[in-house]
Amino acid sequence: MVGIENNERRGVVRRVTTFFDGATAEMLGHTKSAIMDVSHILDHLNEPQREAVTAPLGNALVLAGAGSGKTRVLVHRIAWLIEAEGVSPFGVLAVTFTNKAAAEMRQRIEALLDIPIRGLWVGTFHGISHRLLRMHWQEAKLPQNFQVLDADDQLRLVKRVMRSLDIDEHRWPARQATWFINGHKDEGRRANSLPDDNDLFQMTHKRIYENYEELCNQGGLVDFAELLLRSHELWLDKPELLAHYQHRLGHLLVDEFQDTNTIQYAWLRVLAGSNGCVMAVGDDDQSIYGWRGARIENIQRYSDDFKDVATIRLEQNYRSTGNILRAANSLIRRNAGRLGKELWTAGGDGEPIRLYAAYNDLDEARFITERAQGVIDTGGSPDDVAVLYRSNAQSRVIEEALMLAGIPYRIHGGFRFFERAEIKNALSYMRLIHDRHADPAFERVVNTPTRGIGEKTVEVIRHEARERSVSLWQACKDAIVDGRLSGRAAGSVGAFLKLVDDLAEACDELELHELTEIVIRDSGLLEFHGREPGERGLARKENLQELVNATRQFTGELVFPLQDDDAAEVSMLQEFLDQAALDAGEAQAGSGPAVQLMTLHSAKGLEFPTVFLSGLEEGLFPHRMSTEEHGRLEEERRLCYVGMTRAMQQLYLTFAETRRLHGSDSYNRRSRFVDELPHELIHEVRMKTGVEVPFGIPRRPKSEPLQEDGALRIGQRVHHAKFGEGFVLHCEGAGERARVQVNFSGVGEKWLMLGYANLKPMD
Ligand code: ATP
Ligand code: MG
Repeated sequence: MVGIENNERRGVVRRVTTFFDGATAEMLGHTKSAIMDVSHILDHLNEPQREAVTAPLGNALVLAGAGSGKTRVLVHRIAWLIEAEGVSPFGVLAVTFTNKAAAEMRQRIEALLDIPIRGLWVGTFHGISHRLLRMHWQEAKLPQNFQVLDADDQLRLVKRVMRSLDIDEHRWPARQATWFINGHKDEGRRANSLPDDNDLFQMTHKRIYENYEELCNQGGLVDFAELLLRSHELWLDKPELLAHYQHRLGHLLVDEFQDTNTIQYAWLRVLAGSNGCVMAVGDDDQSIYGWRGARIENIQRYSDDFKDVATIRLEQNYRSTGNILRAANSLIRRNAGRLGKELWTAGGDGEPIRLYAAYNDLDEARFITERAQGVIDTGGSPDDVAVLYRSNAQSRVIEEALMLAGIPYRIHGGFRFFERAEIKNALSYMRLIHDRHADPAFERVVNTPTRGIGEKTVEVIRHEARERSVSLWQACKDAIVDGRLSGRAAGSVGAFLKLVDDLAEACDELELHELTEIVIRDSGLLEFHGREPGERGLARKENLQELVNATRQFTGELVFPLQDDDAAEVSMLQEFLDQAALDAGEAQAGSGPAVQLMTLHSAKGLEFPTVFLSGLEEGLFPHRMSTEEHGRLEEERRLCYVGMTRAMQQLYLTFAETRRLHGSDSYNRRSRFVDELPHELIHEVRMKTGVEVPFGIPRRPKSEPLQEDGALRIGQRVHHAKFGEGFVLHCEGAGERARVQVNFSGVGEKWLMLGYANLKPMD
């Protein structure tokens, strides 16, 4: 069998034994004697999982619910291909959702095979496309040092285009224009392929798209969506290159297939050609990126478009307790048009799901912190705890509470390390050192730290650059020579150009981290940000130092090993800048065990012993924008399902009756998702006392119905400025923490803090 040759080639001596029972060997069509010891790859897999892992070479779809071992199957399949089928690691391409998942996948394959796997391509669609473009920049009609734009860079560029076209940003928000551009790119449409019609919205955005495209081409700028689109076009334009990759990468495996978009699907289809084998792994119930162009129907299309797809379903869940699973199942059952599957577990019911009704977001954060501390106090690691939220803005209050309690935490996604202002400034200097014509970097730091170059001067430079189709850098040089800048402006601009040139010269031949150190010091950024008031200045300085650390640790080999025979020559500086733009940090810098904070979207694929699902309020989750549209509400429900199924042992659901978000207070009802869960699986944790009661049982009035100030009693009619009239159902706590439950005729039951609510007794 080829597997043996494969091992011989690598010089690894392996035992040739029989390990299957006869039936399995027969099923696989192998003779006992020819089989080498690959049994460890099939250990700890159930029957359908084995079937998927050992499926004959060809196309396969693994369609299964959360925690049923899809990712595990994918990893074992890769090991199986290499070890048992003798496929070269160079012939495998695996696509996952994040770089973190890719790095983990690589480790797990290496652990299974017990040897380092060089050459294996594991990454995200974006990462892999990016790599291809770096290797084939000429064929892709890009300059060698093309720059990857992150979301923030892109938005700035769109704004710049709109300014140059005199388009009113109040009427046509730049964010909307960016969505328009990305949306079309995700569907594989260039500006010139959009129809001309009389629709003003369409025409305005088309014009922006066209001009944006031109500016990107001129400056060698590539946004995220462009990475995919352009590498797809590269293959279509260069059949011989495509043939090379089709021949080389015969085995394609895609995790989280339900969230692929049109261009990703097309990309995959072209690469697979008629001979490639694709294993798609996914769960229609976990499709959560429809709002960003993901096509849940790709699962169905895949079975139609690809030859002889073997479909394998997994139904046993290995992750969560019976209670968590039952609750998640009954929630998702409310969605229509599912491909339909039910998960079961052989494990026990576990603990009830706990629900906490906080009176406000601070109280919610306090509760979460207290319970997280409880996990740690009983021997758990902070790593075992995840706090999930719908919106990034929710994290600040939780962060503060954790910080106050001295519990280490880490934020994933959200405000990313590489997106912090001071870091982006430092990276912009590094970018300019690498390429003086990088316009977005130029715009960002030409007057940061402030050096007396005003907006008027920059506008002159922009105009000059536009008129003559040159970079901003070149426009500066020309404007100085031609005397088109005033004496003072010319002096300041000239000093900036010299600063960058001098930095570049000083940094020549230095290690990446030495260069970074010099850049943050000599550019004046360290001092500039350090001068910012209070904690902020200190934090920014620390972050800049952390950037030096990050460059010191950077090996350039995170996802794509350079030993790859196709590897392009890319400088470390370039590699680092790309990495910063592409992966945008995924996790905050730093290491050590920590409570994990992230949005529900970025929790996909992960699992934690204890999970807090916070902010379960109507308007926040389900999100306000989704409640009117049926399809979007279903996507929110899937998101809730994803969140719940991250939990292994303990699941907490929390909501706040008052929440301060984006500077104003909102009063929301409990999320409908809570009420969609079977009440018998839930225990409600009572405030203050921490006592638990079954969910849905009305609170009994306490024996001391009167508040200390004597102002309110059960049954009393009251008036609230916002909610109108109601009557008191219940009083709880005393003094500062006293709160009352009121049934308002307009908005229903609410818990209110007595000290803030300003209730007026009516009778
Ligand atoms: P998700 O839909 O959330 O991505 P998944 O289907 O990819 O989930 P995995 O993450 O692969 O599921 O597996 C869930 C958990 O169950 C993991 O901890 C995994 O190690 C474990 N697991 C999966 N299959 C088995 C098995 N046969 N025996 C023991 N543990 C298993
Ligand atoms: Mg998975």
